[in-house]
Amino acid sequence: MPAHMLQEISSSYVTTTTIRAPPSMGEQKLEKMSLYSAEDIRPEMKDDIYDHSYQDAEGPTPKLEYVWRNIILMGLLHLGALYGVILVPTCKFYTWIWACVYYLISGLGITAGAHRLWSHRTYKARLPLRLFLIIANTMAFQNDVYEWARDHRAHHKFSETHADPHNSRRGFFFSHVGWLLVRKHPAVKEKGATLDLSDLKAEKLVMFQRRYYKSAVLLMCFILPTLVPWFCWGETFAHSLYVASLLRYTMVLNATWLVNSAAHLYGYRPYDKNINSRENVLVSLGAVGEGFHNYHHTFPYDYSASEYRWHINFTTFFIDCMAVLGLAYDRKKVSKAAVLARIKRTGDGSYKSG
Ligand SMILES: [Zn+2]
Ligand SMILES: [Zn+2]
Repeated sequence: MPAHMLQEISSSYVTTTTIRAPPSMGEQKLEKMSLYSAEDIRPEMKDDIYDHSYQDAEGPTPKLEYVWRNIILMGLLHLGALYGVILVPTCKFYTWIWACVYYLISGLGITAGAHRLWSHRTYKARLPLRLFLIIANTMAFQNDVYEWARDHRAHHKFSETHADPHNSRRGFFFSHVGWLLVRKHPAVKEKGATLDLSDLKAEKLVMFQRRYYKSAVLLMCFILPTLVPWFCWGETFAHSLYVASLLRYTMVLNATWLVNSAAHLYGYRPYDKNINSRENVLVSLGAVGEGFHNYHHTFPYDYSASEYRWHINFTTFFIDCMAVLGLAYDRKKVSKAAVLARIKRTGDGSYKSG
């Protein structure tokens, strides 16, 4: 490999990582190159890299099989959250703060935890941070980390096909929440089973969460956020339950789902116009930094899930703070030169430099 094809990331606060910028050559070779660069920057895994060769099988879409238990529970949850909205103005100040902090921490359990650490391995975390993230993740109740990461790797590898659990080609509602209300498409199970999840199976903390998930969720997502305001500062039981518990939980859920729906349907594609995911600032605001979704699907191994670092990206700020404390390390960041080369090669022309 000639020296000019190697680009170094060297920044005062990011681990130096070497990647290869894709040069201009035939499509087939390019595909190989992009796989190699992924391996170079993060050799430990590659099952979240988009598989261009996978296509949906011909034939009609199987009939939707509703899961009525989920439909009823999700309906009740959203009704409870709506009632919570009515109660917000009459909440005690501390309850409001408590709900916001709980939103932020459980959000991090998804973004910094299930997503950037466990699904993509974009950085490494020491035990105290992993403990914090697994607790935060349990507060968010979006399936255990193992299942979340399996679905998410399938979402990246088989994007916009029937093997993608929340295939955005099936519309806004399906990719937002509908996918949780029907039986999985057979391709999700079939292709999901081919993914390498050995890193997750080998991580005791992830398997521990999976074993005790149901009771842990009951405690961390519902009982604790309700009891604390009620006992500690004399909030009414109704305000504690409907605002701090149900409304806060529903808002984190919907913010996460918007990454799968809105950020796959609305926005520019400056990094790769051939994929559906898009840059969506509004989604980034709600999902603490996960709306730079065209970038993220183009470079899933970048710990910032964005070309930038702290720009509308609380999750990156959090990971960087953890790095200062020595709890996060080996953060993978794609070099500016490789990003610019990719924009030139596959972008939609909407990129504004500087
Ligand atoms: Zn991802
Ligand atoms: Zn996506």
